[in-house]
Amino acid sequence: THFKDLGLDAALLKALEQQGYQTPTPIQSASIPELLKGSDLLGIAQTGTGKTAAFALPILDRLSKLKGRPDRGTCRALILSPTRELAAQIGESFRTYGKFLRLTQATVFGGVSINNQIRTVGNGVDILIATPGRLVDLIDRRVLSLSKIEVFVLDEVDQMLDLGFIHAIRKITGLLPAKRQNLFFSATMPKEIAGLAAALLRDPVRVEI
Ligand code: AMP
Repeated sequence: THFKDLGLDAALLKALEQQGYQTPTPIQSASIPELLKGSDLLGIAQTGTGKTAAFALPILDRLSKLKGRPDRGTCRALILSPTRELAAQIGESFRTYGKFLRLTQATVFGGVSINNQIRTVGNGVDILIATPGRLVDLIDRRVLSLSKIEVFVLDEVDQMLDLGFIHAIRKITGLLPAKRQNLFFSATMPKEIAGLAAALLRDPVRVEI
């Protein structure tokens, strides 16, 4: 397969070409067409498989087709990541693949001042990448509402649970609008995580790499 057979927007294909990507990785060829159709996804995959592009490209494609700008204090896609390092990497990937689109994004995590984050998120962004604790803080301060989310991604769920984020995740998922697309990634799938996935996902496509 080639990226151009997957149904992605020309602006994304151009960014991939500039990046020197020749062919999609297995998780990308399996996931991208399903995600473009709007399906939920359960991905059992490690980092290094190309998983970030597998979810970033369809999200960018979907958001590029929306009219207008996000409302103040809202986002349209939310990606939850266990650590600030991973959140920053995901943010860089969105910026790279989305360089020919006019979408806004922000990455927020704890351990740094919240003031800039309050300003940026308060304006509204298309794509928000966040660690769970800082996201809950922004919600509690009424800077951010999750009511306009169209796509929700939980990345590295096993790590998130190891880091004790289950309560934050439950709080966040309880605030999402009913109609949305959900993506769920974990390297391992013990019972607790399978249960969380089953509660969150609707008729998901399962991709195991
Ligand atoms: P990830 O699993 O998302 O952390 O990606 C692992 C690495 O593979 C990253 O450095 C990506 O830039 C790179 N990558 C992702 N997809 C492709 C692709 N189709 N071709 C070449 N490199 C890729």
